[in-house]
Amino acid sequence: MLVDKAPGFCPGAFTFGCVYLSGYTLHLMSHTAHFRFHGSLNDFLRPRQRHIALGYTFAEHQTVKDMIEAMGVPHVEVREVMANGEKVDFDQRLQPEDQVEVYPYENGEEELLTGIAERRFVLDVHLGTLARSLRMLGFDTVYDQHLHDPELTQIASKEQRILLTRDVNLLKHKAIPAGYWLRSQHTAEQLREVFTRYKLADYIRPFTRCMVCNGQIVPVEKQEVVEQLPPNTQLYFNEFYQCRQCKRVYWKGSHYERMQETVCRIFPTNGNMDLS
Ligand SMILES: [Zn+2]
Repeated sequence: MLVDKAPGFCPGAFTFGCVYLSGYTLHLMSHTAHFRFHGSLNDFLRPRQRHIALGYTFAEHQTVKDMIEAMGVPHVEVREVMANGEKVDFDQRLQPEDQVEVYPYENGEEELLTGIAERRFVLDVHLGTLARSLRMLGFDTVYDQHLHDPELTQIASKEQRILLTRDVNLLKHKAIPAGYWLRSQHTAEQLREVFTRYKLADYIRPFTRCMVCNGQIVPVEKQEVVEQLPPNTQLYFNEFYQCRQCKRVYWKGSHYERMQETVCRIFPTNGNMDLS
């Protein structure tokens, strides 16, 4: 007998007759489907559950989405589900002994952006540094440390934004159109993950987004903002940009150098990337 601590499934390829423990109740696995997760979806499984068939007992009311997410994998990271060689929808119900293959999105796949107009993001709380980095590179990024899960879900759904989070359970909400679970806890690596996942390198537009409020930045005449500038900036810089929303002024000083350093960290082979 193989028993797994996680509710609903146990590792190994089974055809029938596997005995299964759920909480304090012993069940016969008369309604069992066999799942195999591919590629990056294995990141959501325990090491000993990865790249093998997993037997999962299910109740009649459970959909494919319910089962996949009960095993720990959020639906937004799933590109396609096949049962016995046939494609199935998330709201479909499986038959006993179905053989199910679950595939992830590959980096930059067009399907990833189905229903998503542009590469626009909404970020979970505690991702403030990543939000500023994305804005710095020109990506429309909603972030507010006071937003709660229902509000994040609503923004992602209503504005058709990609939700980035470290919270796997948040990505399981049905209304979220697209999303990604950040594997790393470190900002530079998170930025690399997002750039790779959404193929962002060709869409960098510095000096288009305000790092503070996500407002649009536009070129502005020096004489219009000169009173807001530190003395040295007045002397040595002549090219300025201003946020239409909060009126913050930007120029190619230390801010610009930090941006170049960031891009060089993400793309070490493109150290001389021109951001102008
Ligand atoms: Zn602003």
